Amino acid sequence: MESSVQFQFSDIGSAYRSSNGQLPDRLTAISHDMEYINTIGKRFVAAIDRFQVHRALLTALQELYGLAACCILLKGEPFELFIISCHPLSASFLEEMLQKIASAAHVIDFPPITAEQLAKSAYFDAPDEVAEYRTQEAIEETEIGSVLNIPLTVENRIIGMLSLFDEPVGTFDTDLLRLTTMIADYAVVALENVRLRERETALWRQADHERQRLELVIRSMAEGLMITDAQGAIVSLNQSARRLLAQAEIDFVVNMPLRELAEKSDVQWLYRLAEIIDQGLMGRTVMNQELTASRMEETVPLTLSISVAPLHDLSGKRVLPIGVVAVLNDVTSLKQVERLKDEFVSVVSHELRTPLTAIKGYTQHLIRRIERRLRKARTAQPETMPPMTEAPESYDLRSLSIVQSQTEHLERLVNDLLDRSRMQWGQFRLEYATFHLADLLMECVHSVQASAEQHTIYLDVQLQDTEIVADHARLAQVIRNILDNAVKYSPHGGQIMVRLQEREGDYLVSVMDQGMGVSPEHFDHIFERFYRVHNTASREYAGIGLGLFVARAIVDGHGGKIWLTNNQHDIGTTFHVALPREPR
Ligand code: ADP
Repeated sequence: MESSVQFQFSDIGSAYRSSNGQLPDRLTAISHDMEYINTIGKRFVAAIDRFQVHRALLTALQELYGLAACCILLKGEPFELFIISCHPLSASFLEEMLQKIASAAHVIDFPPITAEQLAKSAYFDAPDEVAEYRTQEAIEETEIGSVLNIPLTVENRIIGMLSLFDEPVGTFDTDLLRLTTMIADYAVVALENVRLRERETALWRQADHERQRLELVIRSMAEGLMITDAQGAIVSLNQSARRLLAQAEIDFVVNMPLRELAEKSDVQWLYRLAEIIDQGLMGRTVMNQELTASRMEETVPLTLSISVAPLHDLSGKRVLPIGVVAVLNDVTSLKQVERLKDEFVSVVSHELRTPLTAIKGYTQHLIRRIERRLRKARTAQPETMPPMTEAPESYDLRSLSIVQSQTEHLERLVNDLLDRSRMQWGQFRLEYATFHLADLLMECVHSVQASAEQHTIYLDVQLQDTEIVADHARLAQVIRNILDNAVKYSPHGGQIMVRLQEREGDYLVSVMDQGMGVSPEHFDHIFERFYRVHNTASREYAGIGLGLFVARAIVDGHGGKIWLTNNQHDIGTTFHVALPREPR
């Protein structure tokens, strides 16, 4: 007879209401059972893995009942089947047993499994404490008489099934079901504990593995990595960062804010580093800030490029960062190359200046001579005579004028290159004098107009007093550059208006042209070194994108401002230069 599967049953006490109704019998029975369950419970508590729990459960049941087989089938990928029998079983017994387990599993919502699959993965055991001897004949005769399947559940979730098999028919009664279910419940709790422990261990292992991997990556990084806390104290440095900072002869004290460290030491650049870190602590991301990180007497000082990003609390509860992560790169060799390149450009520019001056001088000399000769020839000619055909000298004069203007252009380029390298290495000085800005504008307009036949340059001075304290030559360089560009980038000619007015107590010089204009996305970049607007039009015009870079440095040096706007209807550009009356 097969017992049906029961999930729950009534009050435990009722099972012990003895046939004669006597209380002592009942108490003795309860205490006996409790003692036994306690022993089993201890075995479950001691089990450190699923295997040991299975074994403890099945052995306990076999100790109690001495059944042909007790099996536990657990869900999972792969599923697990564990069988303990008290004696060897016949092949037919085994086959039928697996068939029954497979079909019962199907009933209690197991994923489909076949008896063959069960046979392949079943684990058999026959512990000494329950093993019983049988002759071969007796083994052959074993047959299933009774079957009991009990689902194993955790929080209403079926995790497996316990199946008991016995040879005699009708072995399983309510008492057995009650006790078995009780023991199985212990086992389920133990299994759940083991599962949680295993999951925790797996997660911990995974986290530890990730941590080790991250540590390895950070340790092997060529870039220096520095992490600070919310106070700006270094909490972690990788090996590259240690090496870089050691070169700068700094012993970092862990947990001391960098600002404090900077105040205690005499290392100047530490202040700068603390400043950059502070920006990160205020939530800003700082990219590629350069820091000369060693003592100044060194010929090639260690130069670090630092990028800083704030570290935000993942919970999002804190507004301010909980620290910063800084990446340090050693760019000393790049600086070295840059310096060599600049030195080279500077030397070549210097060398070019001497022949250029000579070419300019001699061209001017020749132009004057030819002009004199032409004047003489004109005065010697009687007024009655028809106008002369063009004299060869006039042709020479035009050619020489072209040589002169090209030489001047070349000279400006060379000067821009020299200025740039001076600026780069802090050798750019302004020499102040007092003069009238209107006069300077007039001079510039005249000189540019002389070589711009297609353009008409107007000067509109809207002020009486235009006195200024500034570097005359440098300001002339700025205005000439803007005017040259106005001419160069309006190839079809047109009008150029130079206006001088007042703005918030400063002078405002505006140069408006009718040329090709500049689209607004270039406005921010046009003053960067070597920046040129790469539309097809401006590529046709000679230039290296340094004029406005130098112009901005000069205007900045005076405490002024330079910017550009587009004209109405997008016809041309206006460059604005605001200059204080005295340098700020
Ligand atoms: P360069 O003229 O030698 O290229 P600049 O620094 O003087 O260098 O100018 C940078 C770029 O700005 C130029 O290449 C040009 O594309 C653009 N630009 C400057 N002035 C004007 C202008 N008035 N109109 C249109 N584009 C201009």
